Amino acid sequence: MARRMTRDELLAYVKSQIKEIDIKTLKEWVESGRPVRIVDIRERDEFEQGYIPGSKFIPRGHLEFQIEDYEPDRDAPIVLYCAGGVRSALAAKALQEMGYRNVYSLAGGFSAWKHAGLPFELPRKMTDEQRIRYSRHMLIPEVGEEGQWKLLDAKVLLIGAGGLGSPAAMYLAAAGVGTLGIVDYDVVDLSNLQRQILHGVEDIGRPKVESARETLASINPDVKVVAYNTPLNSENVMDIIKDYDIVVNGSDNFPTRYLINDACVMAGKPLVDGSIFQFEGQVTVYKADEGPCYRCLFPTPPPPGEVPSCAEGGVLGVLPGVIGCLQAVETIKLILGVGRPLVGRLLLYDALNGEFHEVRLRKNRNCPVCGETPTITELIDYEEFCGVPLPRREEEPAQAAHALEVA
Ligand SMILES: [Zn+2]
Repeated sequence: MARRMTRDELLAYVKSQIKEIDIKTLKEWVESGRPVRIVDIRERDEFEQGYIPGSKFIPRGHLEFQIEDYEPDRDAPIVLYCAGGVRSALAAKALQEMGYRNVYSLAGGFSAWKHAGLPFELPRKMTDEQRIRYSRHMLIPEVGEEGQWKLLDAKVLLIGAGGLGSPAAMYLAAAGVGTLGIVDYDVVDLSNLQRQILHGVEDIGRPKVESARETLASINPDVKVVAYNTPLNSENVMDIIKDYDIVVNGSDNFPTRYLINDACVMAGKPLVDGSIFQFEGQVTVYKADEGPCYRCLFPTPPPPGEVPSCAEGGVLGVLPGVIGCLQAVETIKLILGVGRPLVGRLLLYDALNGEFHEVRLRKNRNCPVCGETPTITELIDYEEFCGVPLPRREEEPAQAAHALEVA
């Protein structure tokens, strides 16, 4: 029968079985950029008093359950710390038993780190209201509190507060995307209300950006709305997009579509694109470093006579709701860095048949803006004309055929 161990004997035994690291060595590792996972295993109230920069908070009670999600590699160096180095020693033993071969316990723990005058950070704290508001996000492992902070820190620019911009902006605001820029020079018209759900009857005649700002504020006061009540052109576009992480295109005309594509390629910003026509919609993500841009598909605008005008074309009112929501989803995935974005993939929605199709999009090496030898190096203001090209599979635009491949 096993002999009973005292607390001190147990600790001495555990320490003989694990590796310890001192604060000086850890500091050197961090400063030299050596890849090391630092895990703070204390309780939340301790963590909130300060933590070692770059460390991941996984309370002791959750460690064995969460460590594989955080670091699945059993050979990766992991440093565990607690307040004084006792709990982390026991925790290191537990991780060793899970097969982790390079686990260290920080001798002296956070107290030694702090008393040595080494830098520490204080975690940001959500308000009680934010904890409740975002609780359903934070319950998802892929989001969590860390992801919610990413959303709150994110800056997204919406081109247009119309059919696509309305649902996209409302869901992004509800999700807690901290800064939403909205560019729109239009005023609300009665015919907009069939689909542009940011606006109501009382907004008719008002600038769309003003109406949008009010609606978004009523959904989530955490969100800062920056309104650009101005036409987008080659003069102002770079200045407007420079402060944003991601651009969401909800414009309904070619000049803006080309302008914003070229500007995003030049500024290196991901562009979440959507378009709609009657019962059909499409959504994709243009990220020029990883996939094609809009001009890879449509190098130049079609002649003005060859596209249906918006007024003639019409659109089912709920269709932009579907496509704008898909744009919001893609935007949030990009912010969180989760999932597989629609880069190089065009998702087509056929509302009449209730079908989604995916078309693979290839980067065009000869693309005039993102290709190997770009011919377009300055922004272009095309003449205003209306319509949206839909590369339907039965009638793909000839110029885009090389870029499209049915998935
Ligand atoms: Zn391109």
